Amino acid sequence: MTAPVVREPGSTREACALLAADPWGTKVVSGGTALVLMMRQGLVAPQSLVALWRIPGLAGITRAGDVLRIGATTTLAEVAASPLVRSVAPSLAHACSVVGNPRIRNVATLGGNLAEADYASDPPAALASLGARCHATGPDGTREIPVRDLVTGFYETVLDHAELITHVDVPIAGPGRRATYLKYRTRSSEDRPCVGVAARLDADERGRVRELDVVVAAVAPTLHRVPAALDAAAGRAVDDALAGEVARSYAEAVEPLEDARGSAWYRRRMVEVLVRRAVQRFTAPEEVVRSA
Ligand SMILES: Cc1cc2nc3c(=O)[nH]c(=O)nc-3n(C[C@H](O)[C@H](O)[C@H](O)COP(=O)(O)OP(=O)(O)OC[C@H]3O[C@@H](n4cnc5c(N)ncnc54)[C@H](O)[C@@H]3O)c2cc1C
Repeated sequence: MTAPVVREPGSTREACALLAADPWGTKVVSGGTALVLMMRQGLVAPQSLVALWRIPGLAGITRAGDVLRIGATTTLAEVAASPLVRSVAPSLAHACSVVGNPRIRNVATLGGNLAEADYASDPPAALASLGARCHATGPDGTREIPVRDLVTGFYETVLDHAELITHVDVPIAGPGRRATYLKYRTRSSEDRPCVGVAARLDADERGRVRELDVVVAAVAPTLHRVPAALDAAAGRAVDDALAGEVARSYAEAVEPLEDARGSAWYRRRMVEVLVRRAVQRFTAPEEVVRSA
């Protein structure tokens, strides 16, 4: 492997211009945990890398009104440990805390995790279930992309080559919101998920479903959602019957992939088990779930 030239632009505009000038030979690098592995394996061979680490304003976690804003170069460890994220989006903090191992989480960034578009990732499902939106900047300007729609296939996103994710906005809800992320690993405690389930409930004052979202990761090239099952939950009491129905719908609708972490048959079974468990969490008092 010939070492690529590393360029360190001081602004997103400069970074986008470098990328636009060389669509085939240049790639963005953030933490490098995914890209450097791909380079070592010979899957990609960029001649130059555009590093994001000197661009001001791309890292950090802030709150503006009812939006939690997380910069693209914020590490997963920072997201997981942030008191702000833990208080307003605890399922996201948890999803980031179970990625790989501390060495990965201390370097890997949220923007890199999203842009990598690996189907077996944890944070995207949690972000999608919370209705988060990526902000991307390119030579033609900026745009918002719902995290749910970012990935289009194996390692494919809607991002253009010269577009950068700059930050992610997560809406903050008032009382009545509950959210959870369940990661199921089959090989080792540091592994990527065999199945990951993020669920979010917004309940009305009687505790019935105002809106339910369930997003399943790692079972297909893109995030798995079953809108009809979610729509059918509106107005219902949150109980074991509802959890079972939603879980069965998700298991029936999935077209599971197979890999070293599990067969298609096994994944379908585990989708049902984990979706049921995720929704059942909302039937218990919140303090019980928080201490689980
Ligand atoms: C041993 C190991 C275990 C892992 N386990 C897990 C796990 O359990 N769960 C999980 O979710 N992930 C896991 N990962 C993946 C890890 O989380 C990702 O590799 C990491 O988040 C990528 O972030 P990065 O900053 O290192 O990205 P990089 O490696 O720098 O970049 C990844 C890709 O995204 C592009 N990119 C980076 N930043 C941006 C940006 N701001 N805008 C546009 N494009 C960008 C790059 O060009 C590249 O194509 C694991 C990785 C390793 C090596």
